[in-house]
Amino acid sequence: INNKIFHFHLSTATTQRSKGRMSEAIIKELIKKSLEAKNQAYCPYSKFRVGAAVLTSTDKTFQGCNVENACYNLGLCAERTAMVKAVSEGCSTFKAIAIASDMKEEFISPCGACRQFMREFGTKWDVYMTKPDGKYIKMTVEELLPRSFGPEDLTEEKMTK
Ligand SMILES: [Zn+2]
Repeated sequence: INNKIFHFHLSTATTQRSKGRMSEAIIKELIKKSLEAKNQAYCPYSKFRVGAAVLTSTDKTFQGCNVENACYNLGLCAERTAMVKAVSEGCSTFKAIAIASDMKEEFISPCGACRQFMREFGTKWDVYMTKPDGKYIKMTVEELLPRSFGPEDLTEEKMTK
């Protein structure tokens, strides 16, 4: 534990290194943007605000919030909103995503669907799971979704009938 940031990282021999190093200032800025994105959350049903900010390989940031719907199961998560915004603007390689919620005691964690959605764009990038005070846990997509299914699997050699 240091002054403000509690930095937890699973560092075992089997985990993958994420690409590049992000400075503490860049991490803080990304987290700030995820907290800011939370203010736009459209969540009249759950009242559970979530914000996300994704940093692209070209150092652009895209923000997203959860967007719910009267047809409950159509609700979209903040993480996917941010990623879809980035991809639709031509950016589909990511360095990191920060996620923010209002939970005081818990780090917000991406749902299974969002983990799979992240994985589409690689396994070696960072996910910052935060608390409103800015503390965070960092894990890679690979750590959050081990032994995952991805685009490469579609081109694997197949059995013939
Ligand atoms: Zn999700």
